[in-house]
Amino acid sequence: MPRFRAILDTMPPYKAGKAVVSADGRSYKLSSNESPYEPLPSVIEAISKAASQIHLYPDPAATGLTNALAERYGVPPEHVALGAGSVTVAQQLFETVSEPGAEVVYAWRSFEAYPLLADLAGATSVRVPLLGETHHLEAMADAITPRTRMVFVCNPNNPTGTVVHAAELEAFLDRVPEDVLVVLDEAYREYVRDADVTDGLTVYRDRPNVAVLRTFSKAYGLAGLRVGYLIANEPVAAAVRKTIVPFAVNHIAQTAAIASLAAEEELLERVDSVVKERTRVREALIAQGWTVPITEANFVWLRLEERTTEFADACAAEGVAVRPFAGEGARVSIGSPEANDTFLAAAAAFRNA
Ligand code: PMP
Repeated sequence: MPRFRAILDTMPPYKAGKAVVSADGRSYKLSSNESPYEPLPSVIEAISKAASQIHLYPDPAATGLTNALAERYGVPPEHVALGAGSVTVAQQLFETVSEPGAEVVYAWRSFEAYPLLADLAGATSVRVPLLGETHHLEAMADAITPRTRMVFVCNPNNPTGTVVHAAELEAFLDRVPEDVLVVLDEAYREYVRDADVTDGLTVYRDRPNVAVLRTFSKAYGLAGLRVGYLIANEPVAAAVRKTIVPFAVNHIAQTAAIASLAAEEELLERVDSVVKERTRVREALIAQGWTVPITEANFVWLRLEERTTEFADACAAEGVAVRPFAGEGARVSIGSPEANDTFLAAAAAFRNA
């Protein structure tokens, strides 16, 4: 038997959202914050064309996509670093800063991959409890020690959907020492409608220790292809680029991401529709008597505590897969109107049971 790293014994596996099917064959997957829309025809066409090149390795520097992102956001291409999904870019960030004894601070509960990536990188997780349902940035700043190498601010936060506002973020960034990397995880940025939420891309240039993490998985509907990216000043982006496994972002993924940027207007109209549904779902839940934090992402959060598993099971019986965090609550993605209606009916039935 080979000897494995001891940390693997204590690491729970990443639990991805799974689809469920009701007894009468209905299935609505609201457990992974995916786009409810099928790919655009223009994206499928680009993928089909790219298929003729898959006997060749992809462009390792993803030059076309890097330039397209740089142009889209008005940043130099040197500020862009790509990865196979933003979770992989997050892993690269851990590779970039971790060494024995390194501490990484993040809110909890937040994106489940942070503790796993910290464990894998040999870093020590410092989890700072949410205040209510929101990042407690003051406590996070207080948690920084001389051993801290990185802080994640997930904005909007997964799974609560809550945001940190501009003034509190600025005050927080002012408190973080310059040798500590602050990662603004903006996987859900395109769904934000609150004007008082900082777009990380407007602040990173003046802050050499700030990096912005984004993804094509949610608003751009490419979860299955795995493309994410980081935008930061050159030293950070260059360090992250060094940590990528060669050819990690494949040719089809690069092509689809470029085609999605070209079709952005249409994709962002879809985001608008999801945001409208988000308002409808939240208001309907509140009318049913639930407490639902204001969400700026493509999901809602219900704090169910000890009834979480029971709730997830009740939704599953109706064919609705939600994302339960046992003992805490359930995160439910905004899906198609039909999926949302089915979820709302299940939520109402649970309340009235
Ligand atoms: N960050 C956050 C906050 C997320 O919720 C997710 C996906 N659940 C990711 C990063 C990773 O997304 P991807 O790897 O698909 O880009």
